[in-house]
Amino acid sequence: NLSDRLGNVFDRLRGRGALSEQDVRDAMREVRVALLEADVALPVARRFIDNVTEKAVGQDVLRSITPGQQVVKIVNDELVEMLGGAEVEGLQLDAKPPVVIMMVGLQGSGKTTTTAKLGKLIKEKHGKKALMASLDVQRPAAQEQLKVLGEQVEVATLPIVPGQQPVDIARRAMEAARLQAVDVLLLDTAGRLHVDEALMAEMKAVAGVSAPEEVLLVVDSLTGQDAVNVAQSFSGEVPLTGVVLTRMDGDARGGAALSMRHVTGKPIKFAGTGEKLDAIEAFDPKRVAGRILGMGDVVSLVEKAAATIKEEDAEALAKRMAKGQFDLNDLRTQLRQMQSMGGLGMLAGMMPGMKKAKAALAASGMDDKVLVHMDAIIGSMTPKERARPELLNAKRKKRVAAGSGTEVQEVNKVLKMHQEMSRAMKQIKKMGGLKGLGALFG
Ligand code: GDP
Ligand code: MG
Repeated sequence: NLSDRLGNVFDRLRGRGALSEQDVRDAMREVRVALLEADVALPVARRFIDNVTEKAVGQDVLRSITPGQQVVKIVNDELVEMLGGAEVEGLQLDAKPPVVIMMVGLQGSGKTTTTAKLGKLIKEKHGKKALMASLDVQRPAAQEQLKVLGEQVEVATLPIVPGQQPVDIARRAMEAARLQAVDVLLLDTAGRLHVDEALMAEMKAVAGVSAPEEVLLVVDSLTGQDAVNVAQSFSGEVPLTGVVLTRMDGDARGGAALSMRHVTGKPIKFAGTGEKLDAIEAFDPKRVAGRILGMGDVVSLVEKAAATIKEEDAEALAKRMAKGQFDLNDLRTQLRQMQSMGGLGMLAGMMPGMKKAKAALAASGMDDKVLVHMDAIIGSMTPKERARPELLNAKRKKRVAAGSGTEVQEVNKVLKMHQEMSRAMKQIKKMGGLKGLGALFG
């Protein structure tokens, strides 16, 4: 896997100060192979490597990780970023109803299946009334197929009128949606085996009469390199708003995702993960980045690297704690570290010595969103209050809660956590001071 390959390249570099251009170039040869093996289109791989090279050259190699691991982190971060970053974009359903979602793509890419999956999602998750219409007059029984799927997910489909052409069906669907007070109208269009002019003209005409809020390009993730050409042709003709990658349950390595995103510039909104009609998920850039790199351990490497970046912070904190100082500013630093290390789940692994504080965390039933809240709460305190939490009387707590958009209860939780942690730290100090703390952060 890539991690081993990079390990070999960098073994001889261990301990050097900064990544040189030659180091990075050697590493990028391996990254390039990994990308192509994952079916990333060649021009996209090239572009990606240029970006990463620019970022990596000259970066300091952190003390406790190898240059290979450092490069993996940079590559992984860039992949996640290019795949859409942390934000997953959902469907735009807030426009004036009927909101039209138009599905486009090649034949067999999974349009009809995805239409039914989305219909179900819109009904169940969004609580909206959906109507589905098949405009596929190319494939025999294509309209029947959607009807059957509609019955399975209990979402209405437009009655079939034999012989009617796509644009007329679209008009009729709009009319029906209005009459039936439908919130979301899903238009499942015809595909071809290859992109051709007739198909594109049809797409445009349908978009013309239905003014879709979303035009989703459905792409089979197994098509790999080909996916780029498809995306290019479609995005040149119809105003896409997003991409759905199907068959992510198969052995696709995820390269199509990177290519899609790069070529269309549009977010990948969903991943199809099976033939069943609930097999659809919000697209997860982190997971797909891991898949492209072909290594399950990339995440742990990255987290290790992230922890190392914070090592200096931790050392400064350790010194303060050893003196028995641990105020809310320190707690805030800790909270931010937890977030950047991948949340509370990671904390358990990172701080094996901190049983007490860990137990306190678990007991308070926190999830990662809570970290963000806690940060906001501490942010709403004055510097004095942060340094001396005992100043926070009922009145001040109320102000802090209002300022952070939370409740006094939550402010109390932060204070309790701070108490638990400082108590735990005092114990550690008793147990052996800095030596004990070394174990805590080692
Ligand atoms: P269309 O021609 O674009 O409308 O494609 P269909 O929706 O008819 O799908 C073609 C085939 O792909 C069907 O057998 C689907 O069950 C299958 N399919 C669609 N999406 C997925 C998916 O995410 N995973 C898997 N394994 N199969 C899928
Ligand atoms: Mg179809």
